Amino acid sequence: MELHIGHLIGGDIVPGRGQVLPVHEPATGRVIAELGDADAEQVSAAIGAARDAFPAWSALAPEQRGRHLRQLADAIEARLEDFARAESRDSGKPLHLAKSLDIPRAVANLRFFASAGEQFASESHHDHGRLNYTLRQPLGAVAAISPWNLPLYLLTWKIAPALAAGNTVVAKPSEVTPLTAFMLGELTRALGWPPGVLNILQGRGAVTGQALVTHGGIKAISFTGSTRTGAAIAAANAERFRKLSLELGGKNPTLVFEDADFDAAIDGAVRAAFTNQGQICLCGSRILVQSSIYTRFREAFVERARALRVGDPENADVDLGAVVSREHFGKITACIETARQEGGAILCGGEPVHVEGRCADGWFIAPTVIEGLPSGCRTNQDEIFGPVATLLPFDDEAQAVAIANDSRYGLAASVWTRDISRGHRVASVLEAGIVWINTWLNRDLRTPFGGVKESGLGREGGLEALRFFTEAKNVCLSWGAST
Ligand code: NAD
Repeated sequence: MELHIGHLIGGDIVPGRGQVLPVHEPATGRVIAELGDADAEQVSAAIGAARDAFPAWSALAPEQRGRHLRQLADAIEARLEDFARAESRDSGKPLHLAKSLDIPRAVANLRFFASAGEQFASESHHDHGRLNYTLRQPLGAVAAISPWNLPLYLLTWKIAPALAAGNTVVAKPSEVTPLTAFMLGELTRALGWPPGVLNILQGRGAVTGQALVTHGGIKAISFTGSTRTGAAIAAANAERFRKLSLELGGKNPTLVFEDADFDAAIDGAVRAAFTNQGQICLCGSRILVQSSIYTRFREAFVERARALRVGDPENADVDLGAVVSREHFGKITACIETARQEGGAILCGGEPVHVEGRCADGWFIAPTVIEGLPSGCRTNQDEIFGPVATLLPFDDEAQAVAIANDSRYGLAASVWTRDISRGHRVASVLEAGIVWINTWLNRDLRTPFGGVKESGLGREGGLEALRFFTEAKNVCLSWGAST
């Protein structure tokens, strides 16, 4: 056993008291760490510590809170290689992806919200002898729950705005990928952060997560994960009337029109389908292609998918690493089997990949492309969250939009066309929180992020996140007639 993952509660690292769980390295199947669930008493202790820390933290000037966040960003950046290695080992993602995307984005999240929090001013207006202003006040101790696919990236996406706005936090990362959150907690101790401002509880959702989201001491819950868990959290909070932000699953369409820049569309569609083994909520897993270019597109897309290299995440030349866990590997392979039973033609992949050497026991799946299935089948409706994409032809714009919107999800979409009017027209009618035109995964941290339909409730990003983590209070003063 390499490492026992503890919890950060009130500035101390303490071992879990619940069931001990192994943490696996997906690329080898080996156990690399263990953690014990934080039990209900530890959850209460963390919330108590966050509540105790709230008055002093919220009283700091935004610049002082910003300084803490920037110092943390600098400290992560100084150890970028260590963080990236830990993220890659823990989740199976290619090391180069962790180095170029996950950890730099975590650093950017902390820096961005340090500045955004400083600029997040109260609004005011006055007329007819009245002055109205709106105070934006932090909520108190808030919960931040994050998934395993972008562990540090999504954890910092929540804790940075919460802290910048003056809240204190109890975070619960995924039990599947606890390493970088643990490292982050240790860094805050080394930097001398005030105890209790950030608490990090490790453990299973059904135990630690459930105790956190049903505790009366927290003022808001920011959750990213599956639609099923989001629904359970919403149900458990139906009578509590506290703020909920739910960032949930997706089954995102990529729409390729005949007038698109063909090579750019192929590139974009391949990246959207297979980056991080298809385990990004924004991945484009349904690829809708205009009939006139369908055959040409299919050939080029399948050729590119076949050429992707699957292997040891530490190798600089791999495109796909391992999928995150044995359970998830089983789920993805079962979905591929369902596609076969539904009558889908597997154009490439469809099988586990055996990697020689140290990764012989890892959980690898070949990029898989499927065609010949109707929009309404399970393969085209259920989120697979793996390296599996389907191809669907369409005849015209109206049909493309109808197929794209034929989903209970509505997180993201990408549209590939050279026709500017069409790009904007289609973007305006797609049922999605984010639409890209001729690009994918391009994110400006100032812009709102979130989904419609079963992809979620509320928005994160930029001002939206700061608004979520504050309560607006209107104050009205009259110096004229008091009406
Ligand atoms: P999950 O819902 O199983 O778990 C997410 C987190 O919730 C984990 O920390 C887990 O321990 C915790 N949890 C589970 N049950 C809980 C409960 N009853 N109460 C409180 N917490 C609980 O999701 P996952 O498998 O870790 O992540 C994959 C899912 O996340 C996919 O559906 C993906 O689309 C989604 N996701 C969405 C976004 C987005 O921004 N919309 C981003 C990334 C991932």
